[in-house]
Amino acid sequence: MPDSGDCVTYDIMLRRRDFLKLVGAVGAGLFLDLYHADMVKALEYAATSGVKLVWMQGQSDTGCTISLLQGRNPDIYEAIMNLNLDIRFYPTIMAAQGAEAMSALNIEPDVLVIEGSIPGPEFSTVGERPVIELVKELAGKTKKAVVAVGTCAAYGGIPAASGNVTNSTGVQYSRSIKGGVLGSKFVSRAGLPVVNLPGCPAHPDHVLLTLAALILGNNIQLDEKGRPALFFKEKVHDQCARLEYFKNRDFATDFHETDISYKKCLLKLGCRGPLTCSDCATRQWNGGINACVHGGGAPCIGCFHEGFPDRMSPLFNKV
Ligand code: SF4
Repeated sequence: MPDSGDCVTYDIMLRRRDFLKLVGAVGAGLFLDLYHADMVKALEYAATSGVKLVWMQGQSDTGCTISLLQGRNPDIYEAIMNLNLDIRFYPTIMAAQGAEAMSALNIEPDVLVIEGSIPGPEFSTVGERPVIELVKELAGKTKKAVVAVGTCAAYGGIPAASGNVTNSTGVQYSRSIKGGVLGSKFVSRAGLPVVNLPGCPAHPDHVLLTLAALILGNNIQLDEKGRPALFFKEKVHDQCARLEYFKNRDFATDFHETDISYKKCLLKLGCRGPLTCSDCATRQWNGGINACVHGGGAPCIGCFHEGFPDRMSPLFNKV
């Protein structure tokens, strides 16, 4: 990944071959070499049939969609064009309204993406139908994979925090307990459990590369929390640019010292990097420009953690 000064690289459209290399990195290491013929077949399928994608939103502030639209590696345009995605339903970006929009759901999606947590039937509806009902119905006829984008869809997130007056939960987990809306035994027609891509918001690279890998038939290794292991195998803390200050016990004790130029670790301002697994500290955000604990100058709030926000609260507390 280029450093923060090398923005030009991101403006170059990925060629198909480069794109496939990126996608190949999501699953088994030598995927491209081992399964080249299968991938060519999958690409031909995508190119001739189109891959039907439905993006359903529950209790969401659309933050994961905004994050996705800022993806740069690849960006969403490149992903849609390279994978020949046929996006049938996506409330934030679709032009269709009313009955015409709802009729787009009368399909068997190849991929069902869910953004936002899923509340009880009386709290969230689309086209006058409870979202929970639509999610169950669509998941039951999804051919390849159901993907929960963001901590809310994956584990419940903020709407399911303490109090939870809407009986909200994640798609296949409620916090760290398997179950959620679809139940612990749910698998897609292709035999996959729900693929969780937590984060508040989800990282656009995680979303686009995972979608691409699933569509192309890549064998994604999921961890015990249903996440692609590649992105979530290390703690934020272990990859943090401030790790040296932590080891030297140079701790910021006031929020005016959070700028990285002070060369302080943010642990004593409530940083949850030691508890949270994600590659966001090195992958960074906004096309590799920045990360919270890095130039962002903010303690990690643990937004990728299945217990967010309750287990991470109170945020920004001095310890
Ligand atoms: Fe760890 Fe947070 Fe300190 Fe970085 S700022 S070294 S993640 S405690």
